[in-house]
Amino acid sequence: LVSRKRRPEDTVVHVGEIPVGNGAKSIVAGPCSVESEEQVRQVAQALKEQGVSLLRGGAFKPRTSPYDFQGLGIEGLRILRKAGDEFGLKVVSEIVNPADIELAEQYVDVIQIGARNMQNFELLKAAGAASKPVFLKRGMSATVEEFLFAAEYIVSRGNSQVMLCERGIRTYEKWTRNTLDISAVPILKQESHLPVFVDITHSTGRRDIQLPVARAALAAGADGIMLEVHPDPSVALSDANQQIDIPQFNKFMEEMRRAGFVT
Ligand code: PEP
Ligand code: MN
Repeated sequence: LVSRKRRPEDTVVHVGEIPVGNGAKSIVAGPCSVESEEQVRQVAQALKEQGVSLLRGGAFKPRTSPYDFQGLGIEGLRILRKAGDEFGLKVVSEIVNPADIELAEQYVDVIQIGARNMQNFELLKAAGAASKPVFLKRGMSATVEEFLFAAEYIVSRGNSQVMLCERGIRTYEKWTRNTLDISAVPILKQESHLPVFVDITHSTGRRDIQLPVARAALAAGADGIMLEVHPDPSVALSDANQQIDIPQFNKFMEEMRRAGFVT
């Protein structure tokens, strides 16, 4: 069902009234984790000022270490929704438990499924029964084929509104957090009709190369990019080393506009 052979034309995902994959480039931005109402408001306001309509923020955080910040849970979803409503933004947040999907639908506009859960088949099935679009991230050790089969799980359960996100894969390289598999972008576009994103933050883990990586992703045919923005990354409760602050985000958006990728 996700194959281009079955459906030659691009799927446009509708996040409320916001189209994704219609030729314009989409940007999903926001903090790694939702930490407080004020933190999310500051980022939401910056997005609004830059004309970005998709706000992200993690409420359920699938952390590698059990001792790391695990997220605010439902309270985080509530904070995100409130900021989204205040600034007229659509909100994207990761759900990790199939039992939370129904509840999440009351708060989020897009259900994110993270890299660590790309093959959580019960979660994929629950997302396939949801009435909200799904932002599916590639597993850090998943092949492109496995990634597409994960999307197939969702679409085959009745939810055709799926966005794919390349977020880097594990290699021996240490100077980036993951290795961005840029060739996955044109391959996914060729093999599938679904919109394709690149997460320029988790793929690189470096804030100094966000702009060239974003340009490469969009030049390779990506429909959009995801990036992490935090009012003060140095005190962030997760991913402090890779998030950009608001002035950096403003500069990033200016450069993207100058390069003609966004209007
Ligand atoms: C995220 O986007 O919040 C995240 C945890 O990324 P990933 O699942 O790609 O590691
Ligand atoms: Mn993060």
